[in-house]
Amino acid sequence: MRAMSPPGRLRRPRFLVALPALALSLACGPSSSPVVGTPDRPTGAAAEVSVAAVADAAAASGVAAEAAVGPSDAGEPAVEAEVEAPEPPCSHVPGVCCVAVQPLGPVPDEELQAVADALRELYGFETRILEQLDLPEEAWYEPRRRYRAERLLDFLAGRLPEGCDRIVGLTVKDISTTKGEIEDWGILGLAELPGTACVLSTFRCRRRVRDVPAVERLRRVAVHEVGHTLGLPHCPTYGCFMEDAGGKAETIDRETFLCDVCRERLGWLE
Ligand SMILES: [Zn+2]
Ligand SMILES: [Zn+2]
Repeated sequence: MRAMSPPGRLRRPRFLVALPALALSLACGPSSSPVVGTPDRPTGAAAEVSVAAVADAAAASGVAAEAAVGPSDAGEPAVEAEVEAPEPPCSHVPGVCCVAVQPLGPVPDEELQAVADALRELYGFETRILEQLDLPEEAWYEPRRRYRAERLLDFLAGRLPEGCDRIVGLTVKDISTTKGEIEDWGILGLAELPGTACVLSTFRCRRRVRDVPAVERLRRVAVHEVGHTLGLPHCPTYGCFMEDAGGKAETIDRETFLCDVCRERLGWLE
């Protein structure tokens, strides 16, 4: 499906990845700790600082400068020979590698797997499905007999497993939050913007199913809510995954792609 295909440019140009390791060793010496990013997870800022550091170092070392800017006069691949090959990026989103999927109460395996698959396919994340936890009593909202999503976020935020960068709670129960004047508004999902946690409910995905199966709706809700945690706001583009569903699964049915504005925000476009 077009929308779930990975972004066109998955890897940064090789010289950008290689520079931080070289620049840091030139500027700080082998025993210093990196102060900007790490060689295996370069950031734009790290690459810029590294270029500056190489320029400074160039004044002190003609050899280093030549190695940093390209092959030697003889055409030898000097950089490649001297700098250890960097690890490839762990996902399509800098700084985010692993997402944990946390079942809150019983959740069918098929739905847990659908969420994990959707996040891996679009964002390239490694995913980890955790052991089920009971829904926390403190999130129960008796007047409407459903769970308050913001309280579920608080619950989840403290349970980010070591080695994971985001946590996605998943429940089959209805969830709600306050929206404008409406005290308790039923929703498909809620996320920190940006942040580490989001929560999804399959309850509304199963309503009024027509052309798009409930599990496909759930995949799109997962992409949407995790997009919020990555800093993506709601998007006005008709059909974009980041369009505001307004609590209706029918809106999700037309969301089939991540638009260029959202892709640019993730750094996927030049
Ligand atoms: Zn949203
Ligand atoms: Zn968009």
